[in-house]
Amino acid sequence: MTPSTPPAPVLRFAPSPTGLLHIGNARTALLNALLARRAGGTFVLRLDDTDRERSREEYAQAIVADLAWLGIAPDLAVRQSERIALYGAAAQRLKAAGRLYPCFETPVELERKRRVQLARGLPPIYDRAALALSDADRARLEAEGRRPHWRFRLDHRAVAWDDRVRGEVSVDCGSLSDPVLVREDGSYLYTLPSVVDDASLGVTLVVRGEDHVTNTAVQIQILEALGHAPPAFGHHNLLTTASGEGLSKRLGHLSLRGLREAGLEPLAVATLAVLVGSSDAVRPVASLDALAALVDLGHVSRAPARFDEAELAALNARVVHETPFEAVAGRLADMGVGGGAAFWEAVRGNLATLREARDWWGVVAGPVTPVIEDADFCARAGAMLPPEPWDAGTWKAWTNAVKAHTGAKGRALFMPLRKALTGRDHGPELAALLPLIGRAEAAARLAGESA
Ligand code: GLU
Repeated sequence: MTPSTPPAPVLRFAPSPTGLLHIGNARTALLNALLARRAGGTFVLRLDDTDRERSREEYAQAIVADLAWLGIAPDLAVRQSERIALYGAAAQRLKAAGRLYPCFETPVELERKRRVQLARGLPPIYDRAALALSDADRARLEAEGRRPHWRFRLDHRAVAWDDRVRGEVSVDCGSLSDPVLVREDGSYLYTLPSVVDDASLGVTLVVRGEDHVTNTAVQIQILEALGHAPPAFGHHNLLTTASGEGLSKRLGHLSLRGLREAGLEPLAVATLAVLVGSSDAVRPVASLDALAALVDLGHVSRAPARFDEAELAALNARVVHETPFEAVAGRLADMGVGGGAAFWEAVRGNLATLREARDWWGVVAGPVTPVIEDADFCARAGAMLPPEPWDAGTWKAWTNAVKAHTGAKGRALFMPLRKALTGRDHGPELAALLPLIGRAEAAARLAGESA
């Protein structure tokens, strides 16, 4: 490697498998995955499943499936539950360095301390009483049956970093409680495992929501205490619902699963998830690679961004309208839709979601119940259908002839024909549909025969 070649970046997405991914999680996942993809780096999926009670295998599987639906395949997938030994070793090192200390307060005692501090107008920061315990005190507490939880002793100083989204960020760790890293039952909270994994997997850039800014300051101190250089960080804004509510996995807000079941295109969902709130109008992109080229952390807004389902629906329709046949041929075949590229091109401009293609295929292939308002007019038009082969010019030639023969024109000419041929009063251009319907079927429908 020449000195001018930067090392390939390693990025990760680290959801806890405690619910279905929502659109805000997709934003985090995509920013990381696309930045890795663009730079030829590595994208790691890390399942933060140390919370044994709330983590569920079905959610772990759903995360993988939902990312695959978006078009993201991790280069590496790890689970924290399989890496506990690494966290134990790190905890030992912190203990040996005097940075991880045992505390015995119960939640009730901590709450009481907090209330007293607040009543005195003091910030509710852990008072480090446990640091003053002697060996004898600890032995007595343990003899009472208490098990310790373990806190990381913060350096009371400001931690600063050059955030890829927010610029220079500084957090005063003097105003924070020493964080609990290990619970009474020996299980790990998210903070330490995340640091250990980021270091051991060689993560170079952590992109995550701005709700983690304070965690980052703490985690930089833990990294340094363990002798690791911190990665770069970027904290993106959070998404809200259209009404401004924060998104919640627990409440199932805007889950990827729900959006998928609503028939939305993964590329439309991905595009809006990544670009929502950016100053440029959100337009369809041709691929995830094209979307990756548009990612610019320096231009991510600092204000929360509203994710509007109406905007998604509009973008989805535009994505469908611009999708070439080759890109959907397999999915159309799976839905039982025939007609090849000619059918797709005839209908795509009328679709809000891809699955609506099935309805229009039903209109082409039948059975259709013709709507005949003027049987005589339709019969005369039917008698004038030209012989096959038919092409894109057939509709015009035929309707010109019907017009000349019957005197009907405009809406009075076209609407009865549309209703008879499709059973509907709206839809794709008949010039494109007519050759797909074919002469025999068109003649039957104009005669009012439903077949
Ligand atoms: N499991 C954490 C979360 O879902 C990961 C945060 C991080 O990216 O480090 O919030």
